Amino acid sequence: MKQYDYLIVGSGLFGSTFAHFAKRQGKKCLVIDKRPHLGGNVYCENIEGINVHKYGAHIFHTSNKEVWDFVNSIVEFNRYTNSPVANYKGRLYNLPFNMNTFYQMWGVTTPEEAQAKIDEQKAEAVARMKADGVSEPRNLEEQAQVLIGKDIYERLIKGYTEKQWGRKCADLPAFIIKRLPVRLVFDNNYFNDKYQGIPIGGYNKLIDGLLYGIETKTGADFFNDRTYWESLADKIVFTGKIDEFYGYCFGKLNYRTVRFEQETLDTPNYQGNAVVNYTERDVPYTRVIEHKHFEMFGQEVYNCPQTVISKEYSTEWHDGMEPYYPVNDAANTALYAKYKALADDETNIIFGGRLAEYKYYDMAPLVEKVMSLYTGLV
Ligand code: FAD
Ligand code: UDP
Repeated sequence: MKQYDYLIVGSGLFGSTFAHFAKRQGKKCLVIDKRPHLGGNVYCENIEGINVHKYGAHIFHTSNKEVWDFVNSIVEFNRYTNSPVANYKGRLYNLPFNMNTFYQMWGVTTPEEAQAKIDEQKAEAVARMKADGVSEPRNLEEQAQVLIGKDIYERLIKGYTEKQWGRKCADLPAFIIKRLPVRLVFDNNYFNDKYQGIPIGGYNKLIDGLLYGIETKTGADFFNDRTYWESLADKIVFTGKIDEFYGYCFGKLNYRTVRFEQETLDTPNYQGNAVVNYTERDVPYTRVIEHKHFEMFGQEVYNCPQTVISKEYSTEWHDGMEPYYPVNDAANTALYAKYKALADDETNIIFGGRLAEYKYYDMAPLVEKVMSLYTGLV
């Protein structure tokens, strides 16, 4: 008999949700994390009364009522609706592309006029390709213009995408934006999901609620004393990097990362919105997050005299940086498959979450995965 049923490596949303369901089934868990805090990438730091999303802005969204009801049973979520604004050379445009954007771009006021303008621009893009002797878009630049036309591509897509990927749109594959949502209604809600919001009081409340009554240890790296940690439990739930788990025996998986430049400003309201994208190439950051707008609405914004902003710079990943986004190219996909084959042969280890599965997961699908996984285990 070992001390714990489960040792859970990583206190992010995967590890914390797993621990919660395991405890509900009467299992004894220990959750460890190498960071000095719990919560993984949803962790928030409270600065001047504002919950600052330290590892990037997180908006919970789902159409799955079971997932929504579950997270709301842990902590109630607020009514935040993601409606980013794009700033191109000092002019503002609503996102995602909708009637507000088309009005701001072309002055059109009816869906019919907007559609006519889009069709005209699409036809011009197809004609340009024809003149070049091609019928199918060869890259993202051509694909975007065939889908939405030159004006929106040049002002709202080109610069942002090139900064985000660190490559020219003409050198990026077309499939990245095979679908661009275009709405002929006045609706700035970025997500199509039925439910969205932010936990009232911040994400730490969600993590603390999930981990209520469960033993945790921060500042504890599994790899610093692997034999000891392994001796503690019958089973391990591993949510760290899968290549690290196997000593990088086949080589290192690659990631993209983001650098955050955070500032506290002596103004109650810096940009009037949580998310402003900077879509021109010459502004080096991709977007500016003003954290208070995730949880303070209307006049509430002025109850807090200061504000905290984060400028996001999309960056190449090197060892020692936070691994944020898996790179789903052919080489990395093949490398991951080799590690996955090893993982599939394990009997007492569950690999889960964005690092262990080398997969970009939004939060809700991750919670859904744990819910179904745990139902399958018991
Ligand atoms: P993580 O949160 O990364 O947790 C893994 C934990 O394991 C970490 O705390 C780490 O310290 C710990 N760990 C790793 N190795 C070890 C070790 N050797 N020993 C001990 N501990 C270890 N999703 C949305 O739904 N909406 C959004 O708006 C959204 N925005 C995002 C923005 C950014 C910039 C990023 C990167 C992601 C975003 N996501 C968003 C996705 C969301 O962050 C993930 O779904 C979720 O955080 C993944 O949880 P996880 O537990 O798998 O991983
Ligand atoms: N995008 C864009 N302009 C914007 C926002 C997004 O061109 O103002 C494109 C860009 O190619 C980006 C993709 O849409 O890679 C997805 O962006 P989003 O912010 O929705 O996704 P995330 O970066 O969170 O994966």
